[in-house]
Amino acid sequence: QSTLKSNTKDPYPDWKAGDPVPYAALCTTFSKIEMTTKRLEILAHCSLFLRQVLRLTPQDLLPTILLMIGKLAAEYAGIELGIGESLIMKAIGETTGRSLQIIKADQKEIGDLGLVAAKSRSNQPTMFKPKPLTVRGVHEGLMAIATTEGQGAQGRKVAGIKKLLSAADTDLSNKGGVDITKDKGGPSEAKFIVRTLEGKMRLGLADKTVLPALAQAMVFHEAGGKVPSTDQLAKGESILKAVYNELPTYEVIIPALLKDGVSHLRENCKLQPGVPLKPMLAKPTKSITEVLDRFEGKDFTCEYKYDGERAQIHYVSHDAKQDFATATPSAGKSDRGISNIFSRNSEDLSKKYPDILAKLPTWVKESTKSFVLDCETVAWDVQEKKVLPFQQLMTRKRKDVKVEDVKVKVCVFAFDVLYLNGEPLVNKSLRERRAAMYEAFTEVEGEFAFAKYGNTNELDEIQHLLEDSIKASCEGLMVKMLDGVESHYEPSRRSQNWLKVKKDYLAGAGDSLDLVVLGAYFGRGKRTSVYGAFLLACYNPNTENYETVCNIGTGFSEAMLESLHKALSPLVIERPKPFYSHSAGNKDQPDVWFEPRFVWEVKTADLTLSPRYRAAIDDVNDPSGRGVSLRFPRFIRERDDKKPDGATTSRQISEMYRKQESVGKSKGPSVDDDF
Ligand code: ATP
Repeated sequence: QSTLKSNTKDPYPDWKAGDPVPYAALCTTFSKIEMTTKRLEILAHCSLFLRQVLRLTPQDLLPTILLMIGKLAAEYAGIELGIGESLIMKAIGETTGRSLQIIKADQKEIGDLGLVAAKSRSNQPTMFKPKPLTVRGVHEGLMAIATTEGQGAQGRKVAGIKKLLSAADTDLSNKGGVDITKDKGGPSEAKFIVRTLEGKMRLGLADKTVLPALAQAMVFHEAGGKVPSTDQLAKGESILKAVYNELPTYEVIIPALLKDGVSHLRENCKLQPGVPLKPMLAKPTKSITEVLDRFEGKDFTCEYKYDGERAQIHYVSHDAKQDFATATPSAGKSDRGISNIFSRNSEDLSKKYPDILAKLPTWVKESTKSFVLDCETVAWDVQEKKVLPFQQLMTRKRKDVKVEDVKVKVCVFAFDVLYLNGEPLVNKSLRERRAAMYEAFTEVEGEFAFAKYGNTNELDEIQHLLEDSIKASCEGLMVKMLDGVESHYEPSRRSQNWLKVKKDYLAGAGDSLDLVVLGAYFGRGKRTSVYGAFLLACYNPNTENYETVCNIGTGFSEAMLESLHKALSPLVIERPKPFYSHSAGNKDQPDVWFEPRFVWEVKTADLTLSPRYRAAIDDVNDPSGRGVSLRFPRFIRERDDKKPDGATTSRQISEMYRKQESVGKSKGPSVDDDF
C-alpha cells in the first residue's frame, strides 16, 4: 500500500455511497494498472479501488472482483467468455457504423481488438450521451452474452455486445480523442469491454494479485480510519489465501467477508462438497534414485499412476446435517444423496459420467454421509476385468451421456479423501487420510477401487512396483510423503511432496508437455489442402503471454490432419494476438494464426536453445536472447481437459531445460522443422 499515495481528489464525484460502482471508475483503475509492470503497484491500485468500493458500494464488491479477474462466475459454473474475434468485429462495426472491411483492416494494422473498438467509438459522433455503464450492468450484460445458447445465439451475442459497446465511453481521460499509439489506448470502457469479451485482460490481475488486494482492502476497511499494522495486513492475507485454497469461489467468500469480516472467515468458509478444489499436482522426476534422494529419511508411499482422467467426486447424503454447497442442475441425485464430479479444471463432469454417479451408492458405506474424493476415472475391460488404455476413455462422449448408452465402462480409482463426514481432511497426514478413506468406502469390482500402493523405501521394491504398474496398464508411479505437514493435501500446488515417475522418463524422454496451438503451415505435396505443421506455445502466467516453443509436424495421421484442419479453420485470426510472444523473423511466421483454444500433449527428445522461439526467454536469460525449444517434438494427444492458460508454463520449461543441462545431456541444434 505504501507504494501509492492515497488519492485525495476523488476522480468520481458523482459516485455516492450506495450508488452502483461506475464502470468508468474501474476502467480508470485498469488503465493505471496497465501503465505499470510492478506487482506491488498493481496490487496497490487494486486495493485502493476495492477500499473505495467497500466504503461506498460494498454490495458491488463481488461483480467488481469478478470483472477484475476477467471472469463472470466461479469456474465450476462453466460460464465462459473467450468470444471469437469475428463476432466482436461484427459488433464493433455495427455499433459504430463502420464496415467490417474497415474494422478488419484496422485490426490488421493495430493488432489489438480492444484498441480497434476504442478507435472506432472515438471516431463516431455521439448524438446523445449514453447512460453511464455500471460494474453491475456490465457484469449482467456479459453474463447474458456468455450464456446465450441455441438457435440464433450468434446474432443475440452480437446484439448483446453492441448494447454494451454503444453505452461505452471511449476516452475517460477526457483529453479529447484516444491516441491509440500512446498510453496503450488510455482508459477506455470500450477497450476493456472487448478485452473481457476476448477472455484476456492482460493486466496481471489473477487471483495471485486480487486476493491479497482484497485482503488489504478489507483489513483497512475494518480498521476504520486507522492505518493497520503490517502484521494485521499479513494475517488478513494469509487467512484469505488459505480459505480460497479450500473454497475457491468468491461467490461464497465475499458475502461471508462482508457479513463477519476477515478474522471470522476461517470459521465460516471451509471446504464444502459442491465447490471443487484445484487439485494438488506432482513434480516430475527422472529416476527412482532421484526419488530416493529427494525423500531421504522420510516415509513415503508409491501408488500406481492410473492413466485416465482426474475426477473429484463430491457427495452429501440426504440425512447429513449439511448442504451440498452449489448443486448444478446436472448433479446426480439418488435416494441416498446428491453428488457431482469435477475435472482437474473444476469443470462439471456429471453429464459425462452419469454412470459413475448412478453406481455411487454401491460403494459408499451407509455410515458415510459426505465426502470429497480425489480419483482417476479409467476405462475398464468388463470381460478381462482390467484397466484399458487411455485412448479408450477418449472415445466416450463428453456431454449428455445417457447411462443406457455407455459403451466404454469406467472404474473409479480413488487415491485421496479431502473431506469426510462434515470435516475437511486436507490438513491431516496422508497416512490418516488414507486410513479414513479405506473406512468410508467399499471396493466393487469394475466400479470402484483404491489405488494400489506399496510403502517402501527399497530401490528394488520400487522398481518392481513400477514394472507391475506398467503391466497393469498404468503410466508409472506417484510417490507421496506419508506423514507430517509435508504430506498434507496442498490444493492447486505442484508440490515437491508428490513425485511422478513415468515409464517414459526412464527411457530418457522426460515428461510430456501440454502446449497451445497458435498457428499452422499449409502442408506440402499431398498435404496442401490441410495444415501440415503447427506452431505451439507454452504459457507464461506472469506476463499472460503465450511463448512459442516449437513447430510440430510429426505424430499425425492423414485422417487426423483432415479433422484438425476442420476444427482449426474457424479459429483463424487476422494476425497474431498481442499476447503471443513469437519470433519476428520472416521465415518463422506461420501461414495462419489461431485463437488460443487447443491444447496438445507433446513429447520431445530434449530441449535446446533456439533464436526462433521465445519460451522461457526471461527465465533462461541467454546472452544472445534465445528461447527454449523442443527437439523432435511428437504429437501424442489432444488435452481437452486443459485450457490454454493451463498449458505447461515457461517456468516448467526452464526447469526441464536446466535439469537436463545439469545432468549433462548432449544437445544438438534445434531440429524441429522436420516437416
Ligand atoms: P500435470 O499438470 O502434472 O502435467 P497431467 O494431467 O498432465 O498433470 P501427469 O503429470 O501425467 O498429469 O500426472 C498427474 C496426474 O496423474 C493427476 O492429475 C491424476 O490425474 C493422475 N493420477 C493417476 N493416478 C494417480 C495417483 N495415484 N495419485 C495422484 N494422481 C494420479
